Amino acid sequence: QAHTQRRLWTTARFKESFPKREVNAHKGNHGRGLIIGGSDPMPGSVLMTTKAALRTGSGLLTTASVKNVISMIAGNNPEAMYIAVPEADGCIAGINHIDLSDYDAVAVGIGLGRKEATAKAIFPALLTFEGPVILDADGLYHLKSYLTDFESRQAPLIVTPHPGELAALMDISVPELLIEPFRYSAAFAKRYHCYLVLKGKHTIITDPDGNQTVESSGNPGLAKGGSGDVLTGMILAMVMQSETIFAGINNACFLHGKSADLLVQEKHSEQDLLAGDVIQGIPEAIRTFS
Ligand code: AMP
Ligand code: MG
Repeated sequence: QAHTQRRLWTTARFKESFPKREVNAHKGNHGRGLIIGGSDPMPGSVLMTTKAALRTGSGLLTTASVKNVISMIAGNNPEAMYIAVPEADGCIAGINHIDLSDYDAVAVGIGLGRKEATAKAIFPALLTFEGPVILDADGLYHLKSYLTDFESRQAPLIVTPHPGELAALMDISVPELLIEPFRYSAAFAKRYHCYLVLKGKHTIITDPDGNQTVESSGNPGLAKGGSGDVLTGMILAMVMQSETIFAGINNACFLHGKSADLLVQEKHSEQDLLAGDVIQGIPEAIRTFS
């Protein structure tokens, strides 16, 4: 405990660590990201994750999903590439033809659904993938069955639960978690050697050694479906472009909150703000704070 730190992620820290693009940069320098998610009942969330990852500077981005989802989102996001995967009952049922080593980082779980067969089709490949894996939403639901497998995995793992998702992973209640969110976050991050983003009004970001930062930007306009899906795309993009994973995660959370704050100050209200607006607000947040 004595050696770990807890601090605010400030505008100054954002400025010093936000990735600059070299004048002779090419798309390969800014990360080849893969998003695995979506199902027939939940097509919209992975659309937002895809768009958010593009808007946050991902060099190359591929989204793997079922074919109905891809036909819905491809026209909306022509900059991304798409892989249609085998499906059963509208959910992902196989990713064997995807070579994960073609990618620098993978985000899994948005709109995935909770079928065991979907997890069985995806998780074994994640365990051998050598780059960062980001798990969110239904990916966190499935993680519970794979926690011990992840303990021996060496490559970075980033989990982005809201309190309900972390409480379920730790077999505690939400009120219990919220009495000591810093302590529970540190316990989980150290035990599973992962980066943990506990989302909320004050998002707590913990590294595998238990160092913690708090993100104070953001407002209740974000308390809506889709906000977290946007954040996952932003984390994927920023982790691939940043010198350290910790800075990448913090900068993604910072930008996500600042985008919402600027939108609420300038043209929206907390009532009408949508997750899609937060993606559209990323450019101004980057211009204002970098
Ligand atoms: P999720 O629960 O996965 O949709 O994620 C919600 C996102 O919105 C996270 O990034 C939260 O930090 C953010 N958020 C939710 N409620 C608030 C709030 N009251 N104030 C600031 N940020 C919030
Ligand atoms: Mg969520």
